Amino acid sequence: MSVREIVEIGHPVLRERSRELTREELRSAEIQGLIDDLIETRRAADGAGLAANQVGVAVRIAVAEIEGVNPRYPYKPPIPLTVIVNPTIEPLDDELFEVNEGCLSVPGLRGDLRRQVAIRLRYLDREGAEHEEIKRGLTAGTFQHEVDHLDGILFVDRADPRTLTTWEQFDRFHRDAFVERITAFAELVGS
Ligand code: ZN
Repeated sequence: MSVREIVEIGHPVLRERSRELTREELRSAEIQGLIDDLIETRRAADGAGLAANQVGVAVRIAVAEIEGVNPRYPYKPPIPLTVIVNPTIEPLDDELFEVNEGCLSVPGLRGDLRRQVAIRLRYLDREGAEHEEIKRGLTAGTFQHEVDHLDGILFVDRADPRTLTTWEQFDRFHRDAFVERITAFAELVGS
């Protein structure tokens, strides 16, 4: 396992639609090694998730994990390590919520955008088994952010540009109000 370099906004691989993997490719040592490296790279960078194209490989794999309190997003509820391969997302209804996001590939910036409150997430795990799960609230937002990566979309595409802040100015002027609002929302929707 090794920590790979995370590519940043401006790199064309972040703007490609990453391709699906066959089950045979998924079983390969190369792809299993990539998954191990995604897990390790996410942990080293303290992200909530990491998509394969963020380390320069345009295949439809992402990992999400929040162990205890994430230092970048301390208000996010825990997510057990989840490897999603060929994921698809279907909104359960029209309800949206406003969230503030950052991204390991967009260093220094955060911004407000809208996400679906409730989604059905379908994916293969790293062994190729099919999963279908309902995700809500902040956790649903995390998975939408990762699947967006695989479609070449970054959070700044969806954010109101007038809400963009550096992390320092977010902490200074916006964090308290956001955390209060999002904590109340998370209690309401259950995650
Ligand atoms: Zn990201």
